Amino acid sequence: MLRTISGFDRIGEENAFAVLARATALAAQGKDIINLGIGQPDFKTPAHIVEAAIKALKDGYHGYTPATGLLAAREAVVRRTLATTGVEVSPENVMVVPGGKVTMFAAILIFGEPGAEILYPDPGFPIYRSMIEFTGAKPIPVPIREENGFAFSAEETLALITPKTRLLILNSPANPTGGVTPKAEIEKLVKGLEAHPHVAIMSDEIYDVMTYDGEEHCSLLSFPEIRDRLIILNGWSKTWAMTGWRMGWSIWPNSQESGQLYDKVRKLAVNCWSCVNAPSQFAGIAAIDGPQDDVIKMCKAFDNRRKIVVDGLNSLPGISCATPKGAFYAFPNVKETGWPAKQLASALLDEAGVALIGGPDFGILGEGYIRLSYANSEENILRAIERIEKFLAK
Ligand code: PLP
Repeated sequence: MLRTISGFDRIGEENAFAVLARATALAAQGKDIINLGIGQPDFKTPAHIVEAAIKALKDGYHGYTPATGLLAAREAVVRRTLATTGVEVSPENVMVVPGGKVTMFAAILIFGEPGAEILYPDPGFPIYRSMIEFTGAKPIPVPIREENGFAFSAEETLALITPKTRLLILNSPANPTGGVTPKAEIEKLVKGLEAHPHVAIMSDEIYDVMTYDGEEHCSLLSFPEIRDRLIILNGWSKTWAMTGWRMGWSIWPNSQESGQLYDKVRKLAVNCWSCVNAPSQFAGIAAIDGPQDDVIKMCKAFDNRRKIVVDGLNSLPGISCATPKGAFYAFPNVKETGWPAKQLASALLDEAGVALIGGPDFGILGEGYIRLSYANSEENILRAIERIEKFLAK
């Protein structure tokens, strides 16, 4: 028997991929499956972005790029960051990485080791906890509560910090809840963090364009007082419907004080992925600099569907759904149905042909909830609600 490192006994998964595989297999058997499981836009990447990648290939961009990304791509990220946050960052702090996940992988790997503690949202994106466990660090869940609008509570978050805390992971707008943490709460959190200069912060802002009902995304970049220990995770996957292109970006501090984080990740890139493929980086530049009409259309469609999902779910017995303020997920409370959430999700796929994810796949506090991605057509969402209603009536 070969011996491997113990991290692989602890590493987890993202059940959304398993549900996608199962839904695809059932569809291949001829079953009519409505997929509200996977978190990816149902739109195609806008045509001008695809054209930019094709042009790059035809122009002969087939080789390695700098490990941190093409300067032109990093400068595009600088422009985009200035436009959305009003903050001017340097291209020297921007890294183009193969997907948003790679930023969390790098950040958690840099700070996680036995004896260290890392704070992460629960319920939250499952890879945070999985990677923390992989490194041997202790995962400390920060409760994200329905009664608090699925926002971070500054008070509860700060109370969990100890001398062993190395990293605090934030996510707003959030997966799986659709929660958006209000600016006032983030201000309180940042103020409290001043007393804990040993804690780095990774802010996952991958859903930053998707906010509704006048809610505004507040980037952690707005706070210069924490800039030297702040890592921003963002990317192209959700905003420009580019999940399969594997294109993310991150913004890192790089001072002596910060432990030269940027340089650490650059070395990790050189050792591991070398660079993001060149044509995708050209596509990424076109995405940022080109017309944003498709992004606006997509967000409008998500907003309309959000209302349909929330109204539909709230009309069902035993289900109550808080109105999500961001991203493209609804996280209804199903406690009154009497079903354990994971079993309900699995039965809905097998018996009603609706793929969605049980809340416990996102953390301990996910029990009693299910996650629906409304990145699907209005027609399919309505059909799914009807099927869930019929199923629950049985
Ligand atoms: N962060 C959050 C909160 C996500 O929901 C996702 C994807 O679902 C990611 C990061 C990863 O994005 P990518 O597909 O670019 O790796």
